[in-house]
Order: sequence, then structure tokens, then C-alpha cells
Amino acid sequence: MDARSLLSLTKGLQREPTVPGMNPVTLQTLDIVRPGDPRYDEVRPAWNLAIDQRPAAVAVPRDAHEVVAAVLYAKREGLKVAAQGTGHNASPLGDLSDTLLIKTHEMRGVEIDPDNRIARVEAGAQWGDVVGPAGEHGLAALAGSSHDVGVVGYSLGGGVSFLARRYGLSADRVLAAEIVTADGELVRADRSRNQDLFWAIRGGGGAFGVITALEIELLDLPTVYAGAAFFPIERAAEVLHAWRELTQRVDDRTTSIGRILRVPPFEEIPEPFRGRPFAMVEVIHIGDQRSGDAVVKALRDLEPEIDTFGLIPTSALIHLHMDPPGPVPGKGEHHVAMATLPAGAIDAFVAANGAESGSQILTAEIRHIGGAVARRDGASGAAHLDAEYISFAASMAATPEMAAKAEQDLAQLDAALEPYESARRYLNFTEATADATSFYEADTLARLRAIKADVDPDGIFRSNHPLD
Ligand SMILES: Cc1cc2nc3c(=O)[nH]c(=O)nc-3n(C[C@H](O)[C@H](O)[C@H](O)COP(=O)(O)OP(=O)(O)OC[C@H]3O[C@@H](n4cnc5c(N)ncnc54)[C@H](O)[C@@H]3O)c2cc1C
Repeated sequence: MDARSLLSLTKGLQREPTVPGMNPVTLQTLDIVRPGDPRYDEVRPAWNLAIDQRPAAVAVPRDAHEVVAAVLYAKREGLKVAAQGTGHNASPLGDLSDTLLIKTHEMRGVEIDPDNRIARVEAGAQWGDVVGPAGEHGLAALAGSSHDVGVVGYSLGGGVSFLARRYGLSADRVLAAEIVTADGELVRADRSRNQDLFWAIRGGGGAFGVITALEIELLDLPTVYAGAAFFPIERAAEVLHAWRELTQRVDDRTTSIGRILRVPPFEEIPEPFRGRPFAMVEVIHIGDQRSGDAVVKALRDLEPEIDTFGLIPTSALIHLHMDPPGPVPGKGEHHVAMATLPAGAIDAFVAANGAESGSQILTAEIRHIGGAVARRDGASGAAHLDAEYISFAASMAATPEMAAKAEQDLAQLDAALEPYESARRYLNFTEATADATSFYEADTLARLRAIKADVDPDGIFRSNHPLD
């Protein structure tokens, strides 16, 4: 598929979206692929290759006009509509046999306005499309850990970056959205227009329409201090307890992750990482070499096998977590949200997934959030996480045997950490179907449902985590 990325320094970003009604030519040119079409298997897969999604039809629009055409097509055919950027969170979508899947991977344009610190990204843009061009101007985005996570899906669900404790959620940096509504109209939602819709999409997910573009605020942050300390997995308890104590000392300039990573034995992975299990801590500190070195001193005192801490361009943060370079078959059902992290939770995490556990989980992490993520001001949207720590784990599931083992290991980790669950779950880290009440406070959910009923009374739009 043709990935287009456009860096324009001159275009005004505050323009009105325009679609001059339904253009019959657009519907003729729109690519709609149905089962039986030889291209069906090419266009239907999700990023998570373990998900065998089989929609009634797939539309691959190239611009907002074609998104309008796709929505009108679905209405005419009596189909529901689900938008998908990458399919990183495809697994809770479920049966799509009555649904037109609008895959936005042909819409990856990115425009950076360095003077106003704004990026305008099209629906299919991935974080890797944004951080590089933004970084050329010393600007940073609240990107996820992977270069190929979609900006839109991530931001609609909240968006926890490595800078979150200082700068909050990605959803709170969304300045405007261009949305195709259930009527097939392209509208702009921002602080002064379609305010309810603007509030809802910033955390409420993809249930309100198809986003064709977002404008997001960038940060003036050319460099950060960041890196990881790697220890043999046998030292997991000692290392992760030290990490837990570190999280209790730092202010919101420091975000960190305690993690157990079993590096796959792939040839392309260099020694000494290839095929080895590690206990590790990743640290991201907004500051200089000196203050960063002070933050990680307690970890260096433990004499890690390798440590990579130092000042880096903020755009290089996208490589820190060593996420897969492209689509993989995975299982990631585990996710627990915690208001506090008692020492017992670290013991449980290590017992369920450490060297003696029998687990083969590829990556299991506990992220320290809180800080600005937990604060709210009048400008915030529907996204709000009250957890101070969130865990996430994923395993490879390339064969049925691997999938079964992954399920067993993830269930073991779930059972170990469940007693410590003490906050609302994070929608983006939830890869199983979940009740909307597990994500939102009652008043937030009631408002989201009222807006959904108003803008999509027939319930055409399906999101991965529905609100009902
Ligand atoms: C390897 C990996 C790393 C990750 N790292 C992070 C991280 O660091 N921080 C974090 O917070 N999360 C992270 N996530 C979770 C990620 O934020 C979610 O999976 C998110 O849903 C991905 O968005 P997407 O657009 O790529 O996925 P998709 O599966 O394409 O989209 C998810 C949902 O978003 C909605 N959506 C997408 N595009 C549109 C659109 N154009 N219009 C309307 N709705 C739309 C739909 O409801 C869709 O079902 C990670 C996930 C993985 C697998």
C-alpha cells in the first residue's frame, strides 16, 4: 500500500473542511472490496495478525470525500461502519459480518506548522509519520511507544506517552477534529464548534463518526534524557522493587516503566539481547544530563548488565520500548489499573512472570502514570485516568499452541495482579471486550452516551470499545 507523508510548512491549518455534498464520481472511485474479491485478503487484516477479521466489505478511502462516500454507501447497504487505522486494537471489535470496515491506511498525510506548534494528521497517520517531521523543528508529540500505532485511534482512547506524567494525555492535546458524521457530513469539531462532539472524541473512542484528520498541539522539547537498564531476569524482584521506590521519589518530569522482556531469538536482533529474558527499567526524564543521571543513580547502583541512559532527541523515544517493527500475531488481554503499587504487587508480578514462573510472556510491564494524567482542567475531554500505575502484557501467538500458552500465561498474570486492581481501566490497553463502566466515571459515561444518541441515533458507528 502506498504510504503518503506530506510535510508542509506553509499551509494554513485552521481551514474549514469542505465536502461539496455527495459526489457521484467519488462513489465510483472509492475502493470498496467485498468477500470474493481477490484483494479482500490483502485489505482486511489488522495489525494484530492473530485477529481474523472478516467484514461485510472493506473501504480504503484516499481522502475525506471518499470517507463520506463510504459512510453513505454503508447506509445505503444497511451496514454498520467501523473505522480502523492500523488494527492495533482490533481484537475487541468482534464479528464484522454486518459492518463496512473503513481502513484509513491510505490517508497518512502529515503537515507541521512549526510556528504555531501544530500538526495536522490525516486519519491513517502513524506516530512514526509525525515524530520525525516534528523533531526537525525541535518539536515533540505525545506519541505512543510504537512507530506504527495510529495517532487517531490512540488519541481517541486517551493516549499515554512517555511524557504523560508531565504533559498529560494525547487526547488533551487534540485541538480540532474533522469528522464524517452519521448524516454523511464532514464537520469540524473544536473548542468553538460542535463542542460536545469535540469533548466526546477526546477519550470516548471511535463511536461518534469517522475522523478524517486531527490537529494536535506539539511541544517545544528537542531533547529528553532517556534509556533503559537491563538486568538478568533472575534479579527481577530486586530490580523492580528498586524501581517501585524510584517512582515514589520522582516528580512529574520523570516517567518510568518496570518490565520483564523476553527478547525473541530472531537473527536480526543483535547480541547480547537476542533470545534473552531481562528484568528492566525504562526511564524518561524531562531535564538535562545531570538531573537525569541523578534520577537513575539508584538503578546504576544495582550495576545493570547494560544501561543506555543519556540525552537523546525526543523523536528517538519512539525506539526506546523496542516494540515490533511491523504487524505481528499477538495476544494482549492482560491489563490491570492500580491507584497505588504496594510491594506485594511487585512480588505477585514476579511470581507470575519471573524466572521461576514457567511463563513465556514476551513483554509484561507496569507503567508509572499519574501526574498530569490524573489532573483535569476545564479544557479536558472525556479521557481521564485515575490510575497511578497500569500494567500491560503481550505474547506472540503465531500458532494455536503458542496462542494457548499465551492465554494461560496471561491469565496467570491477571490472577496475580487482580487483587491489586484499584482504578478504572485504560481503554487503549484493553484488548478484550469490556464493559464501558470499567473505563469511565458514571457522569462521563452518561454524557458520552447522550452525545452518541444525539449524533448517531441509529447506532451506525461501531468502535472497538462500545459505550453501551
Ligand atoms: C505494540 C503496541 C504498543 C502500544 N503502545 C501504546 C502506548 O505507548 N501508549 C498507549 O496509550 N497505547 C499504546 N498502545 C495501545 C494503542 O493506543 C491502542 O491499541 C489504540 O487503539 C491503537 O490505535 P490504532 O488507530 O493504531 O488502532 P486501531 O485498532 O486501528 O483503532 C482502534 C480504534 O480506534 C478507533 N479509530 C481508529 N481510527 C479511527 C477513525 N479514523 N475514526 C474513528 N475512530 C477511529 C476505532 O474505534 C478503532 O476500533 C499500544 C498497542 C500496541 C499493540
